[in-house]
Amino acid sequence: MKNILWFIYILFFISSAKGEYYRFDPHGRNFSRELNKFFEPVFNKGRMQIYRIKKEGGFKEIPPSLLGHLVKIKKNQWKVISPENLYEKIPYSLSTQSILEKISEKNVREHLEFLIERSSRKMGTVGNHETANYIENFLKNYGYRTKRECFKKNACNVVGIKKGELDEYVLIEAHFDSVGALKAGADDNASGASALLEMGRLLSEKSFKRGVIIFATNGEEDGLLGSKYFVKKAESSGLLRKISFFINMDMISWNKNGIVDIETDRDFEEAARWMSSIANTYTTLRPEITMPAWGSDHVPFLKKGVPGVLTIEHWKTKSPCYHKSCDKLDTLNIPYLLEIIKLNMAASLYKLSE
Ligand SMILES: [Zn+2]
Repeated sequence: MKNILWFIYILFFISSAKGEYYRFDPHGRNFSRELNKFFEPVFNKGRMQIYRIKKEGGFKEIPPSLLGHLVKIKKNQWKVISPENLYEKIPYSLSTQSILEKISEKNVREHLEFLIERSSRKMGTVGNHETANYIENFLKNYGYRTKRECFKKNACNVVGIKKGELDEYVLIEAHFDSVGALKAGADDNASGASALLEMGRLLSEKSFKRGVIIFATNGEEDGLLGSKYFVKKAESSGLLRKISFFINMDMISWNKNGIVDIETDRDFEEAARWMSSIANTYTTLRPEITMPAWGSDHVPFLKKGVPGVLTIEHWKTKSPCYHKSCDKLDTLNIPYLLEIIKLNMAASLYKLSE
């Protein structure tokens, strides 16, 4: 039965493949050898690698495993804007700057150390559970109304909510699970989870026009399970349409060139440009915009039309320890991480108050 399905899929693929573009969703596997055999690159910038089939015929030889990772993409869907073309700033605010100065490297390091000291943070493990407890207790201590949102046995998101004057929210998210390497997952994604907690602390100190949702997601590495579940539930409860903006943080601490990738879909290009002007105003980062979104917890939100972005380290020079056991604390670039926290804090402060 499975073979028949693949046959139908391949037939469909052959009949529709000519002149079309594909992006690959490698997630966890390296397809470069197979890719180059059957496909030719047409675009390679930012987080976007777009391919076209090399020649007609020979499609039957394409391994089904590779076909399963193809995502068809229309020509106007992808766009990457380099740092050289993003120079705008916004009027500088002293009160925003004074809050950014409170970002504590010591706190961030403490969170990083706790997370990396777990034997593993893979969904369902003891370390994953301990991390969820740590995050929930932390948010409780800072006055958030917290809830554990379980989508599988032993697999729960942690959500912290602080209300604002309006029944609207800005959501900040990062995944706290890892692929499972022992005492690792520093960049992916202890970096984002630590930033989330430090932002949670600072955002708890003031009241805003809009409410804050601190969303620690789980099961990202198993297929965005936690964020998909949250979005589905929030859609039916009506919470989703009250989220006016969101920021996702995934892999934000391995870098050598100061470039931060700001990723969204073409519909929200303006929001990404605005984020880049925040980066130019308040940080030393060089923003690069990359579209469309793929591969992290921002995708389920964008699919439902919630405006927002992913902030992620420059993908072209990403951590060589990506998803490996060498993804350790001593490889991280902490000053770069602190700049990304500044960017996301400043953006949140504007969105919470505007
Ligand atoms: Zn990740």
